[in-house]
Amino acid sequence: MMAEHKDRVVLVTGSSRGLGKAMALEFAKKGYKVAVHYAQSEGPAQEVAQAIRDAGGEASIFSADVSNAEACTNLIKAVTTEFGRLDILVNNAGITKDTLALRMKEADWTSVLDTNLSSAFHLSKTALRGMLKNNWGRIINISSVVGIIGNIGQANYVAAKAGLIGLSKALAKEYAGKGVTVNAVAPGFIESDMTAHLAAELKTSYLQQIPVGRFGKPEEVAKVVVFLASDDASYVNGQTIAVDGGMVTQ
Ligand code: NAP
Repeated sequence: MMAEHKDRVVLVTGSSRGLGKAMALEFAKKGYKVAVHYAQSEGPAQEVAQAIRDAGGEASIFSADVSNAEACTNLIKAVTTEFGRLDILVNNAGITKDTLALRMKEADWTSVLDTNLSSAFHLSKTALRGMLKNNWGRIINISSVVGIIGNIGQANYVAAKAGLIGLSKALAKEYAGKGVTVNAVAPGFIESDMTAHLAAELKTSYLQQIPVGRFGKPEEVAKVVVFLASDDASYVNGQTIAVDGGMVTQ
């Protein structure tokens, strides 16, 4: 374990599965203490935490529905109580409810915005208090390339992911003077439960747009997130880093 990270605590929302799980494991590998978070998947979250402990790391699991503002506040308080501090917040939990805008139900708009965007505001707001006291903090918001370029059938998701980029830029300017950096990561097409159910034709068409010629792996996103959380990234602030095999060049 790297000594310089051993006292830092990270919360990765939605780390029971997919990209968040890879991030939790990567942080643990570098010696961070990890708050593993889930909504429904208690068993998988337990397994992530156990894998971290088996490798000699420290981890606890927390459940919260991040679409609820009060649950977000309580989650940050619970993590801070358990570990004594919270240094790094990764707003990763997310859902999709895809359909064309004209067919999109009000509830599908609201739930995607609440889960993917408002959650990041509520969690950051509470987490920032402790970070400002410590004069050090990192917030990393997991956006998406579609938040940069748009996508058919995802008006709710694209709006939320573009919103995360804006939220990151605003917070980056507000708190940089107090040692807190805020950045966004925009993954392209990454193999996970979220993308597993997409139609074969859609996957083929996405593949044609990826210069690297393959879909990404959760670990490839996790490594960028862990870099942004490190002291090595101290002068990176308010940026959106695409991890997409070259699909979107900004
Ligand atoms: P995933 O496999 O579907 O996992 C989603 C995670 O979010 C799970 O841990 C889930 O918890 C949690 N979650 C969902 N709703 C929640 C709620 N209301 N409250 C708390 N937690 C909730 O997704 P993924 O592919 O790993 O995606 C992770 C993030 O990367 C998302 O923000 C996604 O938009 C973004 N992203 C993914 C891709 C991709 O290609 N996969 C591309 C761009 C961006 P439970 O397990 O308990 O349900």
